[in-house]
Amino acid sequence: MYNNSYLQTHLNKCNFMFKKFGEMGLDTSGLAAKGFDGMWAHMEDGKKRLLLTSYSYLGLNGHPRIEEAVRKATEKFGTGTNGVRCLTGTLDLHNELEHKIARLTNSEDAVVFSSGYLTNCSAISAFLGKDGIAVYDQYAHRSLQDGIKISGAVRAPFHHNDMDDLEQCLRKAGDAAKLVIVDGVYSMEGDIAPLPQIIPLCRKYNAAIMVDEAHSIGAIGKTGRGVQEHFGLAPHDIDIKMGSLSKAVPSIGGYIAGSKDLCFTLRKGGSSWWFTGASSPADTASALAALEILENEPERVARLHEGTARYKNEVEAMGFNTLNSPSTVIPVIFKPGRDVDFNDTMQLAGVIIDLGRMVSDLLEEGLWVMPIFYPAVPKESSRLRTTITAGHTDSDIDFALSVLRKVGKKHGQI
Ligand code: PMP
Repeated sequence: MYNNSYLQTHLNKCNFMFKKFGEMGLDTSGLAAKGFDGMWAHMEDGKKRLLLTSYSYLGLNGHPRIEEAVRKATEKFGTGTNGVRCLTGTLDLHNELEHKIARLTNSEDAVVFSSGYLTNCSAISAFLGKDGIAVYDQYAHRSLQDGIKISGAVRAPFHHNDMDDLEQCLRKAGDAAKLVIVDGVYSMEGDIAPLPQIIPLCRKYNAAIMVDEAHSIGAIGKTGRGVQEHFGLAPHDIDIKMGSLSKAVPSIGGYIAGSKDLCFTLRKGGSSWWFTGASSPADTASALAALEILENEPERVARLHEGTARYKNEVEAMGFNTLNSPSTVIPVIFKPGRDVDFNDTMQLAGVIIDLGRMVSDLLEEGLWVMPIFYPAVPKESSRLRTTITAGHTDSDIDFALSVLRKVGKKHGQI
């Protein structure tokens, strides 16, 4: 309890739903792993559960070559760096990683930051100021939207993947500096930004384009090169290519790739280059080793795609709605089973609690999967966010399907 009543009232308001969940024994957000065995987690509560919602799309977490690279980097450089990138924080490993990313993304240059979130927060303001207009998909990731706020640019959201609305925003923006900002793969929907339509609109209205590839690099395209490969785009079609190093690449960090001029600007004016510590030797070395594996082992991407396709087909055949996701993110939409007015807070909370009960049973049966609900997704479509990675074996996938079938039936979902 705080003496400051404003703060206490604010905390009570923020925590209302989570406290309710806690009281009902449904708050699963604090579950912790003690160790991993493939895609299975040994957990603090003594249970063993199969991960069904991992970002590690290529199943590279724990790869011996990555662990060896981390050991060597730590022996050589220690655990930290000596500062921010622009002062004494840069290691030869950072430069090597940037060269590797530039090559992989078919770009002239790349700049690495300490996280994907920081990358988006600092990069947008390096390219767009108060006199500019950020034209962004309404579902653009929170880090992009925070970056737009920091930049002070005028905000012009367009309806999700709606090309008519995008064109209207671009037309309205007139001669102002315009940056169109989209996710490559939307992390909760699983759908892919229609870049073959977005890019010509950007050209027509003289707008630059930034694509966040957090969930597409390593995950889509025949060899995991993301949206460029998926759509067969030319190297310069996307002006600002952003990616995370904490998903298919099992490390921590983010990057921007693009022209030499673009990267020069980030190195001179990007706030994360100046005002936060450089990523650690271990993080940098692990990202570098993981990208080398991505280059040398394209069969991992094939395995990811095959496993995901089989899982998605079977989940749909059971009767779940996956929004027909074309990527490696497979949402499983929760059906309320009764008429609900989603604008009524108590009715919405009732649906979320029902989803919480289903998740609780999934956890009990050995699947580690989490409930996703408003405001992360629209009120009407609370869901499970599920993924099959290249690290899941065929029998892991069979296990996941059998638990989903049993629990889905119990909760009237199928
Ligand atoms: N963009 C998207 C689309 C994301 O989903 C995330 C993280 N979930 C980020 C950016 C931030 O990346 P990071 O985890 O590397 O900070």
